[in-house]
Amino acid sequence: MLNKEQIIQWLEAVATVLEENKDYLTELDAAIGDADHGINMNRGFQKVLTQLPTVTNKDIGSIFKTVSMTLISTVGGASGPLYGTLFLRASAVVTGKSELTSEDMAKVFAAAVEGVVQRGKANLGDKTMLDALSPAANTFTEAVANGSSFLESLKQAVDAAESGMKNTIPMLAKKGRASYLGDRSIGHQDPGATSIYLILKTLLYHVRLNTYK
Ligand code: ADP
Ligand code: MG
Repeated sequence: MLNKEQIIQWLEAVATVLEENKDYLTELDAAIGDADHGINMNRGFQKVLTQLPTVTNKDIGSIFKTVSMTLISTVGGASGPLYGTLFLRASAVVTGKSELTSEDMAKVFAAAVEGVVQRGKANLGDKTMLDALSPAANTFTEAVANGSSFLESLKQAVDAAESGMKNTIPMLAKKGRASYLGDRSIGHQDPGATSIYLILKTLLYHVRLNTYK
């Protein structure tokens, strides 16, 4: 179970984590893009941070919607609309909720993947954020179906996101700016897959804290 307060704390922590990883994400993007992914994500989540106090009394759907709108209007690039759509689709499946069960979270994951696919038209293996998000979503859903707890399912999902992120290294980019490089995109980790991993890892940290306290 994941409640509204934990979601707000998670989003606050994401802002910190993306700030701490701004240079790292930007270096990854410098190798196969235009060296702005860290800057874009940090700008977006710093703005999210300023918006969170306006949604503390709202449901999780409204919180995700505010995140979406904020990212769409501040991030720019490819990742702004992609992350914006991810959170918009996620918001639509949790309207009115103040806590998420494992089943709700599986729906959030599925909606997030669907949003990214519809917006970016990427396939698995194209070396994008989808290569971290999709395995995480599938792993979470399977773990829940097998009777694992929220925490255990999320732990497995984060492991899958990490593997998915690392698996982007040998891939040839077929979408986004990195695709302009052709073969030269091979050998570099995708920045968007990396930000997905960082965001999910931060969620795991918060769920873990709450489970053991
Ligand atoms: P831009 O490429 O416009 O500079 P960013 O640098 O912020 O935007 O984000 C780049 C990331 O966006 C890539 O690493 C990749 O993960 C993701 N991305 C780009 N195009 C797509 C797409 N069509 N579908 C899914 N993800 C994509
Ligand atoms: Mg870029």
